[in-house]
Amino acid sequence: MNERLTCQGCGVELQTEDPSQIGYIPEKALQRTPTVCQRCFRIKHYNEAASVTMDQGAFLRILSGIGETKALVVHIVDVFDFEGSLIGGLHRFVGANPVLIAVNKLDLLPASLNWNRVKNWVQKQAKEQGLKPVDVIPISAKRGRGFDEMVRALDRYRGGQDIYIVGATNTGKSTLINQLIRRYSDLDLELTVSRYPGTTLDTIHIPLVEGQSIIDTPGIVYPYRLTEIVDAKTVNALLPEKPIKPIVYQLDPEQTLFFGGLARMDFVQGDHQSFTCYVSNAIKIHRTKLERADEVYEKHRGGLLSPPSAEEAAKLEPFLKHTFRIPRGARHDISISGLGWIQVNGMDGALIELHAPKSVRVTLRPSLL
Ligand code: GDP
Repeated sequence: MNERLTCQGCGVELQTEDPSQIGYIPEKALQRTPTVCQRCFRIKHYNEAASVTMDQGAFLRILSGIGETKALVVHIVDVFDFEGSLIGGLHRFVGANPVLIAVNKLDLLPASLNWNRVKNWVQKQAKEQGLKPVDVIPISAKRGRGFDEMVRALDRYRGGQDIYIVGATNTGKSTLINQLIRRYSDLDLELTVSRYPGTTLDTIHIPLVEGQSIIDTPGIVYPYRLTEIVDAKTVNALLPEKPIKPIVYQLDPEQTLFFGGLARMDFVQGDHQSFTCYVSNAIKIHRTKLERADEVYEKHRGGLLSPPSAEEAAKLEPFLKHTFRIPRGARHDISISGLGWIQVNGMDGALIELHAPKSVRVTLRPSLL
């Protein structure tokens, strides 16, 4: 494609190379009129939002555009990767507009879980990251759970304005929008071109009956999530489809757990205690002695320690070591963005060293569960 063509639905520059990136159009669809990107085409013809992604700089420009209008901003975060999916500086970009947090993928957590607990935990953690949401609504976009409360909250907080949906990739933004399209069923799905003539916002406006829109923005790519730095097959293994069965290990100090070949936790010092691992059940956990851990990693990564495959293991970033002194008196999680978390159950403190590919965000937090 030589000449610069733009989508007649959302105004984005069209490209025929990468289906996961914004502006993709299959080569043969270039002949169609109106010429619209695949994302616009799918919403218009199948009432279905499709995931597309965008780098941080371009995404922040879209967010700043929201700051110049009056709208409700719905920020979708993934309960399974809270630290990796929260957009920390959101208020700076969206101005005075209210932000509602939708915490998605609650179906992955134990069925006995009290959703209000998650709500309170997210409220507190978000505040620590500088976010002051008007409300936090736990949902499962995939299972359609939490939507009565979600729709009520949208009606309450949007005050007749547009609703922007923002989030990182793979948090379930498209799945959420598809549920909303279904629920606000008398939508007239005529795509509107950006209401800012001359500027490209790369957003899709899905009209609501009263003249406002739900506005789909591309997913922001955060390079510190494990899911962004591994190949598609490993991403599939990392993203759990079914509820996670947490696995509990009783460990003595100087023992190590490997999470496939993707991360390693060394229990360096502390009393015998239990560690509960919340990771996708497709990731095999392997226990060994700390003194043997280096050797085991060298010998078995890509084999016994997989995913990643041997081929991918050779390309994976080197591990960086994070040292954590777990405070006494309360349960804590070590969260590894894109992989999951390890709940440290002892109340008497511990010294932990966590090894993960160097760009992956690893954090200590008060326990979610
Ligand atoms: P987007 O990139 O944010 O638009 O995310 P998608 O809607 O494409 O979803 C990304 C992945 O998360 C897909 O594999 C979905 O099946 C999965 N997903 C989305 N919502 C949920 C949910 O509520 N629960 C679970 N378990 N998976 C979900």
